[in-house]
Amino acid sequence: MSKAITPIKGMPDIVPEQMPYWHHAEAIVRQVLEEYGYDELRTPMLEKTALFKRSIGDETDIVAKEMFTFESRSGISLSLRPEATASCVRAGISRGLLHNQRRRLYYYGPMFRYEQPQEGRYRQFYQFGAEAYGLAGPDVDAEMILMLARIWSRLQLSGLRLKINCLGSDATRERFTAALQEHFRQHEQQLDPDSQRRLDTNPLRILDSKASQMQALIDAAPQIQNYLGSGERAHFDGILQRLETAGIAYDVEPRLVRGLDYYTGMVFEWQTDQLGAQNAVCGGGRYDHLVRQLGGRDTPAVGWAMGMERLIALLALGNDTIATAVPGVYLVSVGDRAARAGLGLLEKVRDALPGVRMIAHGGAGSFKSQLRAADRSGARFAVIIGDDEVDAKTAGIKSLRGGTQTSVAWDDLVPALQKHIAAET
Ligand code: ATP
Ligand code: MG
Repeated sequence: MSKAITPIKGMPDIVPEQMPYWHHAEAIVRQVLEEYGYDELRTPMLEKTALFKRSIGDETDIVAKEMFTFESRSGISLSLRPEATASCVRAGISRGLLHNQRRRLYYYGPMFRYEQPQEGRYRQFYQFGAEAYGLAGPDVDAEMILMLARIWSRLQLSGLRLKINCLGSDATRERFTAALQEHFRQHEQQLDPDSQRRLDTNPLRILDSKASQMQALIDAAPQIQNYLGSGERAHFDGILQRLETAGIAYDVEPRLVRGLDYYTGMVFEWQTDQLGAQNAVCGGGRYDHLVRQLGGRDTPAVGWAMGMERLIALLALGNDTIATAVPGVYLVSVGDRAARAGLGLLEKVRDALPGVRMIAHGGAGSFKSQLRAADRSGARFAVIIGDDEVDAKTAGIKSLRGGTQTSVAWDDLVPALQKHIAAET
């Protein structure tokens, strides 16, 4: 036997046992997004590296160290997408989806970041995200958050806490950045190497540092709230008022800056204390300049992305199992004649009962061992055929929960199964 090929580090397989959680969460997120009028957009997983450099920013961790980047055969630098907002904007511009329009879009799919893999942090992970274009807010900013609150409640998740902050306009951030530089420069020797480098290039990023020896220094730094202009203040207050009206609790978190450079106004995260170090389940904010920055017209924009692995970890904490709604039928057939007749019969049942899960045992085995397999499959009924049944053109239907067994003619198999399924659901 040759040596098995191991999976790539940080790229998990999602095995069938986990799938009920995924399907449940995916269905609910998609349903709520559709209910709020968001339309799905699917973009490729591979983009030109330049797209991410121009949007997320050269100085961010994501672009500086976390991208899977390689050269195409024709010599262009390509990257697996680390997030999908940039792709939405690129697609929006090149497909004419954004100009002079109000657009509500959502996406779902895998993202790739070369991070240190650990619980809740992977190199391939799934994100749902929503983006709204052409709406200056604060109504749509609040809508984004209400939509997320509805997703949590429909998934029956509690304990998610909303952290919110306002980063302000370019001019505001320039003044704030200068104040930050002054503060951190006075304590330059306490900064880690990354932060020392960022002192000149992007001091805002220092606030996002997770280095523990710098936390006190970061806590003492100037706060953006004190630098906001009156218009920015009013926009932010407008969002907070709408959240209060809707009964959504929040914490204003002056240090929340997010790991991407394109944010301009309100930013937020939903955090939990149930998942250890990986506490952010969802993050987003306003990015009013990105469309122009990527070659489109000035378009206000706001969006968020949620990490599905973390959402599902939360979901699994509160639920040992998620019921699969599909009723199942298992074909038990002993002997070659019965197997052939059974397969044909099952095709007729499939024609008549779409949506019902029907598993043929496939291969040999005694009645007893096939029935054991039927039990293990989770099916509710077994359809049983042996030589005697083939001769009489009948089949047995056995309830795998109640244990009762009846015999029906082949012609009556479909209505009989229908009746059984209706009685048990
Ligand atoms: P973190 O601070 O945990 O690194 P982030 O700010 O980098 O998160 P975003 O870029 O805002 O994350 O992505 C939105 C969401 O996607 C996060 O809140 C998280 O739930 C999820 N996410 C981000 N990176 C990963 C990853 N490497 N593995 C799994 N989920 C992730
Ligand atoms: Mg990150």
